[in-house]
This record gives sequence, structure tokens and C-alpha cells, in this order.
Amino acid sequence: MKKQRQSRNLAVLTKKRRSLRKSLVKIYPILRGSVVTLGVKCGNPNCKCANGKTHPSVYFSISKKGRTKIVYLGKGVQAQAEQWVANYVKQKEIVDRLTEVNLEILLSQRRARKHKR
Ligand SMILES: [Zn+2]
Repeated sequence: MKKQRQSRNLAVLTKKRRSLRKSLVKIYPILRGSVVTLGVKCGNPNCKCANGKTHPSVYFSISKKGRTKIVYLGKGVQAQAEQWVANYVKQKEIVDRLTEVNLEILLSQRRARKHKR
């Protein structure tokens, strides 16, 4: 009776995993990092930015192995970049849930093997 409950549980987990995987592939494109607005100086000594009123500019910031890289994007693609970053966050959440489900599957397989002996 216990074994039956376990296999039903495994079926539920497998179904959950399939649905998570389906939603994972639907979310794209992705961009890992963040969209930031930084104040920049244009270099014109007569411009307001020379006195501290810098021009807000849109950049993409990405960290890799402890190093941060900043790439100029501009306002034209800001909304799109933010959407892709949000997609990455959603994918990461799904990967976390998939990890939980897969771990449960592994543990139930381990238990099943133990009972066979
Ligand atoms: Zn300026």
C-alpha cells in the first residue's frame, strides 16, 4: 500500500516537472543582468552636465565571475531589455522549482530502491 502511494506521488511529480519545463521554454528571450540608468557627461564644457546636471543614460550591467561589465543601451531598447531581464528572473524561479521537484523525484527513487532490497 505504501509503494502504491509512492508511485502515485512520482506520477504527480513527473507531471509537475513536465508542466514546469513547458513554461520554461515559453519564456524568452532572456537577459541575465540589470538595466541601469547612469548620469553621464557629454564633454561639452558649456553643457549643463559640466555643472553636475548629468544626462541620464541607459546601460546594461552584467556580472561574470566577480567582474561587472557595463554596456551602453540607450532609451530605444530600454523597455525591451527590461522585459528580457524580467524573463530571466521568471526562468530562474522555474529552474528553482524544477530543482525542488527533481530532488523529490530522486529521493523517492532512492526510497524505492531501498525497499527492493
Ligand atoms: Zn552634456
